[in-house]
Amino acid sequence: MKEIYGQFDPEYGKKADLHIHSNLSDGTLSPQQIVDLASHLEIDAIAITDHDMVHPAEIAREYVEKNNVPIELVIGSEITTETNGKRAHLIGLFLDSPIAKHQSVPKTLYEIHRQGGLAIIPHANFLHMGFSSFSEAELNNYLQTDDPEVYFDGFEVSNGGLLLVAKRKLFQGKAPPKAYDFALKFYRQHQEKLGAAIGSSDAHRMTLELSLTGYEDDLKSAITNAQTSVMAPDTYEEFTDQYSKAKDFFIQSEIQSERSRHLF
Ligand SMILES: [Zn+2]
Ligand SMILES: [Zn+2]
Repeated sequence: MKEIYGQFDPEYGKKADLHIHSNLSDGTLSPQQIVDLASHLEIDAIAITDHDMVHPAEIAREYVEKNNVPIELVIGSEITTETNGKRAHLIGLFLDSPIAKHQSVPKTLYEIHRQGGLAIIPHANFLHMGFSSFSEAELNNYLQTDDPEVYFDGFEVSNGGLLLVAKRKLFQGKAPPKAYDFALKFYRQHQEKLGAAIGSSDAHRMTLELSLTGYEDDLKSAITNAQTSVMAPDTYEEFTDQYSKAKDFFIQSEIQSERSRHLF
């Protein structure tokens, strides 16, 4: 893994994966399997962020508490906002209850913050392959607004889903990944308005860790104070290594139900 943004050594900090989907939404692992895998990979904090719901994250939290899993489980949701007939995802973290889909971006931001939650922009300006994202123009609009309710707490500088869909092109000739070029450039330009730099896997299968957020001490404070780093795989070998680690874990732990067989 390479630190593509940040100041502190990720070797000595903690790591979080803050955008993960379960089989109660459009993923394939159960909330419990996600916790088990994250624990095996020694990730310190995860957020389950299923589409327009929080109960999969609540199920995962119950499992963490019951089994004393040493993981901070963040209740999250990837919320489908709608503006002028166009849909775009927005991640809410540290939520108490689900937020209705198809509301405007200002209304969604207001509801996230009213719950004491944090709002993260996922896969910015990635408008292909079924990703519902804010375009660059829309992002610029929201960043220039005078509305004090319209603000973001974090921005995905790297999204594992983008790395995954584009993997063949990205790693040709073992060149460093390019999928985060737009996000990294945009983040550097507008850092003070975008909040913390976030790296997340957007895993729908076993691809946890394809991007990570580095932090120290308390996760919520680290995001609020924009004291984070972003890590992503640097080579095709690192990219596939994550896959092998996850696959080996499921084989070894004999989670070989009909469901997990077609994960591979
Ligand atoms: Zn999304
Ligand atoms: Zn997602």
